[in-house]
Amino acid sequence: MPWLFSWGLADAFLSCYNEPMIENNPEMKSRYAKSLAAFAQAKKLMPGGVSSPVRAFGAVGRTPVTVAKAKGPCVTDIDGNLYIDYIQSYGPLILGHADEGVLVAINKATQKGTSFGMPCLGETKLASKITEMVPSIEMLRFVNSGTEATMSALRLARAATGRDKIVKFIGCYHGHHDSLLVEGGSGMTTLGCPSSPGVPKSVTQDTLLLPFNDLGRLSELLSEQGHEIAAVIVEPIAGNMGCIPPATGYLEGMREFCSAKGIVLIFDEVMTGFRVAPGGAQEVYGVQPDLTCLGKVVGGGLPCAVYGGKASLMQLVSPQGAVYQAGTLSGNPLAMAAGLAMLEGVCQENAYQQLEALSLRLAQGLSDAASQAGISLQVQRVGSMLCPFMTDQPVTNYQDATACSPADFAVFFGAMLDQGIMIAPSLYETWFVSLAHDSQVIDQTIAAAKVAYAAVAAARG
Ligand code: PMP
Repeated sequence: MPWLFSWGLADAFLSCYNEPMIENNPEMKSRYAKSLAAFAQAKKLMPGGVSSPVRAFGAVGRTPVTVAKAKGPCVTDIDGNLYIDYIQSYGPLILGHADEGVLVAINKATQKGTSFGMPCLGETKLASKITEMVPSIEMLRFVNSGTEATMSALRLARAATGRDKIVKFIGCYHGHHDSLLVEGGSGMTTLGCPSSPGVPKSVTQDTLLLPFNDLGRLSELLSEQGHEIAAVIVEPIAGNMGCIPPATGYLEGMREFCSAKGIVLIFDEVMTGFRVAPGGAQEVYGVQPDLTCLGKVVGGGLPCAVYGGKASLMQLVSPQGAVYQAGTLSGNPLAMAAGLAMLEGVCQENAYQQLEALSLRLAQGLSDAASQAGISLQVQRVGSMLCPFMTDQPVTNYQDATACSPADFAVFFGAMLDQGIMIAPSLYETWFVSLAHDSQVIDQTIAAAKVAYAAVAAARG
């Protein structure tokens, strides 16, 4: 179906932030005055005023704040408003903003040059740390974004199997390259555009879609078409339609079916890698994929991502093999230094226990806050990834996630923002707790959530 992103929807979307509700509220207008002016200017120069769609706050009818600086668990906007931040750059900053160790590593590396286009020791150091932490990765290639990682992993899987078809799950997001730009979550769900104009049908016709968490459907599809399928790609914990853990046995079953049919199993751990455990979701669930994609945490807040896995597959990548993939800035020394410092930071004793305790405290606090306001809430969480869905049913797939009310979320979001709590401006994004958060900021967040859930209840009437 072409033009799923209809002009009707586009108009509605644009009018949301041409006439943000704060324009009519003098107190709010003065609180956000500099951000409003900055965004008006940005919109003239960049589509939607942003460098990535979800940042536009369009789905929640607000104007984005422009960030001046960030430290630890907080960001400060250019009007001087301080926010406790659960976006954390959408996941990379597991140590919090501007972590001292990461900053020192970047500064030190900068003194020696920013990019060489030649091998550097940082690549081997970071590669060896990654392979130590994620044992299924025997060899890897550095790239610059999660999108590049999944695109390259698919090319490799297709080359290795000589097959074209791939399987992806509805609501999982793997970046914005053509073959996976089908029924993604995250900003795409928010915009109501499960696909995008400009993606040729000929590319997506080899992308087969299935609901997440339905092993029966996967088994059926693989028995019928398994011999034509190169890869199954999955977020082992879905993080782009809120936070949806895999059902018991789901990943194990997927592993078994893929092995039986000679299909390359790709875990997209761009979000979950080093986030939910040192070895990512594959460590948590004890299932090893053939290839893994990493991003976010692995770059320490700089552009860096990875695809890697079995040496027998990775040896097919150019120049060792024939599968072409390259990058001017790939493996650049700043990202290598930042990534290594970030991974050393999460390897501190008790780091994951601390993340677990803080995130549990937040999840319980949010549940209590909602229940006091008479709002049904499912806080779905794996470690420091969580999403509080306003529903009385567990959310197991995209259909469940999209049944939650965007209007409720918009009220909740606005009330949190105005109290100095920054969450992602979409119902379908995961919240990230970092090691820089502490019980005090978590408790402040819970106190704000009480007010915000009361506002939702009031708005429902
Ligand atoms: N895979 C997953 C699971 C992601 O969450 C994302 C980004 N949110 C990507 C891939 C794409 O990464 P990038 O934005 O770095 O291209």
